[in-house]
Amino acid sequence: MMPLLYSVLIIGGIGLLFGVGLSLASKYLAVEEDYRIDEVEKLLPNYNCGACGTPSCKAFATEIVSGNAGNLTRCKPGKRDKNFNPILEYLKNNPNSDGTPVKIRL
Ligand code: SF4
Repeated sequence: MMPLLYSVLIIGGIGLLFGVGLSLASKYLAVEEDYRIDEVEKLLPNYNCGACGTPSCKAFATEIVSGNAGNLTRCKPGKRDKNFNPILEYLKNNPNSDGTPVKIRL
């Protein structure tokens, strides 16, 4: 009976230790994401087709918000189906944290 009890206590202790470690890691090592990425993603067509040269609309939204996308018209479905003005308007009203505008062109 005692070996079984020791085994349960050891496995339980290891589980508790790893649980606490993962909890602390998620708290202190978390990377905050720019809230604008999700908003810009919602304004894209969300076909996740990759025609813009990124693997997903979220990746393209990340490039847009970081100012590395260059032209919005890289999104071919968006150029055909949607108006890019809502994205431009959103970024105009939500500049970078230092107040500079997001660099993006049509
Ligand atoms: S081309 Fe447009 S619809 Fe396709 S993945 Fe890129 S942003 Fe999304």
